[in-house]
This record gives sequence, structure tokens and C-alpha cells, in this order.
Amino acid sequence: MRRNDPLIVGGGPAGTSAAISLAMAGVRPVLLERQRVTGDALCGGFLSWRTLQSLERLGIEGLEGHDIDRLRVFAGQATAEAPLPHKALGISRQQLDSLLLARAEAAGAGIERGVTVREWHDGTLETADGASLKPETLFLASGKHDIRGLARPRQDPGNQTLGIRVRLAAHPSLARLVGGAVELHMFERGYCGVELQEGERGNLCLAVRKSRLADYGGDPEVLLAAWAAESPAFGERLAFREKGCDAIGAVPYGWIARATLPGVFRLGDQSAVIPSLSGEGNGIALASGILAANGWLAGETADRFQTRLARATTRPIGIACWLWHWGERKDTARLIAGGVRFAPWLAGRFAEWTRISH
Ligand SMILES: Cc1cc2nc3c(=O)[nH]c(=O)nc-3n(C[C@H](O)[C@H](O)[C@H](O)COP(=O)(O)OP(=O)(O)OC[C@H]3O[C@@H](n4cnc5c(N)ncnc54)[C@H](O)[C@@H]3O)c2cc1C
Repeated sequence: MRRNDPLIVGGGPAGTSAAISLAMAGVRPVLLERQRVTGDALCGGFLSWRTLQSLERLGIEGLEGHDIDRLRVFAGQATAEAPLPHKALGISRQQLDSLLLARAEAAGAGIERGVTVREWHDGTLETADGASLKPETLFLASGKHDIRGLARPRQDPGNQTLGIRVRLAAHPSLARLVGGAVELHMFERGYCGVELQEGERGNLCLAVRKSRLADYGGDPEVLLAAWAAESPAFGERLAFREKGCDAIGAVPYGWIARATLPGVFRLGDQSAVIPSLSGEGNGIALASGILAANGWLAGETADRFQTRLARATTRPIGIACWLWHWGERKDTARLIAGGVRFAPWLAGRFAEWTRISH
């Protein structure tokens, strides 16, 4: 008996990797994506070697990014650098998501754009345009956005983490400053990742506690100016900023789905959220989509899949949370930078331990 093909909600790395994997196996899934035109999602855009392997497995070719082979850490006056264990890539999410969606469509998945899912109740999905859908299997891949009825647990409002992104204009001086490094600038109750992407345009992405932003009247511009005054290296990079600033609220770093509802496969950020300083969120999203597709094809239940994925994400997320925890305190952040300087090989080990294996 042939089961009904899964319905996928969300066209980011998690949803598209599931769509491609299913379509490559001859299944014809339908993917609903709320955006009509692919945007540039708020993300550091660091693709680890493990992420690049998954993309290759999915048949993604022609990535045009900026090669990254080093980690550079700034904490107070301390600076340290260490080689990454393997080559990584800096790339805009617009390019990545466009390539993944195109590949899913070419492989035979149905992509329906401009469809927003509003709510889930009693096995039924309601869309913003009034349609009701009753999928036998749902692949939930709405990423940073929760759907009513399937939302992740709410965080303690006093301790929430926000994501903020500004873009840096391509310039030879910026290229000289950042080069082939992914940079981590550590601050009290927050950090910032900087890297170059295609065309040597820069991406500067912050994860900051809401309480820290509140110290600056809740205004990201005031926070950025204060961090630039505190850290000359950060200020040097921020000097290249383009107009505009994107923000996202309440990122539940460290959360892992350990159970699910019957027929609901939770993928990507809807299954597990790794602190972004690890640069492995996209890797987990792609891996979860591939694992879910293969599990479903093999007749695995949603609950068994979720347990398997939770097991695979526990170590990388645990280590990344530990680094995040100690990195957002001034004294221990300096110790981390000191560790990177005196034992660069250890930084490489941590970079490996925060990858998902699948
Ligand atoms: C500040 C910050 C920096 C980061 N930097 C990095 C990094 O450098 N490297 C890295 O690997 N990871 C990074 N991450 C993590 C990474 O962005 C996520 O882990 C990854 O995007 C998860 O992919 P996803 O497919 O689950 O979700 P998403 O990428 O969020 O995609 C979800 C998709 O679903 C669609 N959607 C949402 N709601 C609905 C709905 N109701 N109906 C229909 N469609 C819907 C959205 O439009 C979107 O296309 C960062 C995260 C943050 C917050």
C-alpha cells in the first residue's frame, strides 16, 4: 500500500533537503513556503565542512561563496587565531536557499510559494488563505517561526536571546581585515560573528541577550555603537556597514525536541536549536531533512525519528551551549581566547565536536 506523500512546511535548508531527498527517491512531496520571493534569511551564512558534504550529497553545485579556513576570536583586548580542521564557506542565505529550492523543484517536488500555514489542530493545518489540509505525514520545517498548535516551548522572557544582522559593504580594506577567517567577537551577554560572503560582502550577525539590549534602551543602533566603542576591532568592521538592520526575537538556543505528535516529523530549528557561534545550524537543518526523508521511506514513525535526531544533536548542542555560556562572561571569554591562542589544535577539536554526524 502506498502511503500519502509527506507535506512539508518551510522552504529553508531543512524543508528543501527533505524535499530533495524524497524526490530523488521517486516520492512527490509538496512543500509550502510563505515567501513568494526567496529572501536573505537572518543568518551568519557560515557553512561548515559537514554542511558542504550534505549539500554535495543533495546534488547542490555552483555555490559561489568566500573560502574560510580560520577562526579568529576577540575577547576584550585578547585576540587569537586557529586553523579550522577543514575548509568552510561564507555564503548568503539568499543564494543557498535559492539553489536548494531550485534543486527540489528540478528533482520533482511540488513547491507552492506564498502559502503561509497559520495553525495546526487535531491533525489539520489551516493556511492564511483559508484552506484546511489534513496530511498523513507532516514535515515541520518552519525554522525560526513557530506555528500555533506546534510551537516550541516559550523561553523565560528575562533571559531570551535575539538575533541581529547588519551587512558590510564589499571593500578591499574589509577583505584585508577579515580575510579567510570566521570571526567571533565576544561581549558580555552576547557575541557577534563576522565573515565575508560572495563578492567579498561582509555579514555581521549578533546573538544578544534581551537584558543586554535593554541596557541600551532596546535600541540595536545604540548597542552596536556601544560595542564599537568597547572593542576597536569590532568598530573597524562596523565602519563598513550598509544601511538597515534585521532582527529576530527569542531564539531558543539549546532546545531539542525529544518527542513529537504522531505523523509530525520536526526538522531543522523546529527540532533542535544550536547556538549560532558553532556555525552548525544549517548543517543540522540539512541533516535532519535527509534523515527524516530516509526514515520515512524506511517506514520509521515520527516518534522514533525524533528520538534518533535528538540523540544525534545532543553532543554538538551541549558543547555549543557550554561555549556560549562561558563565552558571554567577560573573564571566561578571555580564557577561551587564551585557550585558542595557546592550544589552536583544541579549537579545531571543539570545531569538530560541534558538528552533527549522520
Ligand atoms: C543570529 C544567527 C546566526 C546564525 N548563523 C549561522 C551560521 O553562520 N551558520 C549556520 O549553519 N547556522 C547559523 N544560524 C542557524 C541557522 O540560521 C538555522 O539553524 C537554519 O536557518 C535552520 O534552517 P530551517 O530550514 O530549520 O529554518 P529557516 O532557515 O528559518 O527556514 C524556514 C522556512 O520556513 C518558512 N516558513 C516559516 N513559517 C512558515 C509558515 N507558517 N508557513 C510557510 N512557510 C513558513 C520561512 O519563510 C523559511 O523559508 C544562525 C542563527 C541565528 C539566529
